[in-house]
Amino acid sequence: MSAEPVVSLSDVEVHFDQNDGLVDRLRGDGKAPVRAVDGVSLDIEENDVVALVGESGCGKTTLGKAAIGLQRPTDGQVRYRGQDVWDAFDGTGDTTVDAEDIRRSLQIVHQDPGSSLNPNQTVMATLAAPLKRWYDDLSREDRRARILGMLETVGMEPPADYAERYPHQLSGGEKQRVALVRALLMNPDLILADEAVSALDVSLRVEMMDLMLELQNQFDTSFLFISHNLSNARYLTKRAGGRIGIMYMGELVEVGPAEEVLQDPKHPYTRVLKWATANLHPDYVQVEEPPVRDIDIPDQTDPPSGCRFHTRCPVAREACREEHPSLGDDGGHAAACFRDDDSHRYWSSPELDD
Ligand code: SF4
Repeated sequence: MSAEPVVSLSDVEVHFDQNDGLVDRLRGDGKAPVRAVDGVSLDIEENDVVALVGESGCGKTTLGKAAIGLQRPTDGQVRYRGQDVWDAFDGTGDTTVDAEDIRRSLQIVHQDPGSSLNPNQTVMATLAAPLKRWYDDLSREDRRARILGMLETVGMEPPADYAERYPHQLSGGEKQRVALVRALLMNPDLILADEAVSALDVSLRVEMMDLMLELQNQFDTSFLFISHNLSNARYLTKRAGGRIGIMYMGELVEVGPAEEVLQDPKHPYTRVLKWATANLHPDYVQVEEPPVRDIDIPDQTDPPSGCRFHTRCPVAREACREEHPSLGDDGGHAAACFRDDDSHRYWSSPELDD
């Protein structure tokens, strides 16, 4: 156990080159890169639950994959308990934590469990494979006992019956439980749950989120939960005493304790997401018009100058077009918006009228 965060992201950038080949690049007339993630810093602590929320294409999945070492950043640093993840993977620099330990400790549960389970393998075979790889000292009997015990823990009873089933013999919720068991069998420190409940029926969603929280407690693991749905993010983080991070165009624009972010959003974009989530709060009255000036999301390859939200922000001023706001790092509730600073020149700057 170390005092370092489980995972620490520092100024992480992930830019995707859109050019097809060397010729495009050499000619210099190719397309600009997609800036999927742009300068995000975030610490995930022991037993932490963090939900990243934002519209489709905002970079939340890419950031999540960078956090668990599935996506190499183009700049910035990702550390696992203080160890640079990519130094460990590449075998460069000082390595205090083994690459294999990092891979085992950082797990993922995908949105579509069907596609991540081999249709030709039984549940037992699917779950035994990673155990054989990471815990090769376990006997066949111990492996089987551990798998059956975990299936029972996630409510798949009788476990011996479920263990012999193939994916097509499982419901969507059951497949997702198998995916969760597969991640938990690795005894991970962090699980990336990427839209892990989005494909489930509403009633099953709550059941699955409750199960995830129960297991998080039981197995002392942390969760990074990716969702486009603020309502799901709220349910999970509120119960776990976790945090919500709001992403817009590759940047983290607000982060803080779940209820603070939802009850008292500091960033105008968080208010837009709140507006779009009708069932978020019984007292919340949805106004007819969305609180944005422009509903179109700008081009990701050519983000607006200054604050990236200024083209849509209903309270944008001239200063927002010129200057880029940064997210404070006091570890509490922070937003990348000049309105959070009473002394900023934003307040004396003229309103934007286009
Ligand atoms: S910095 Fe300006 S444009 Fe950006 S969110 Fe705040 S008020 Fe809106």
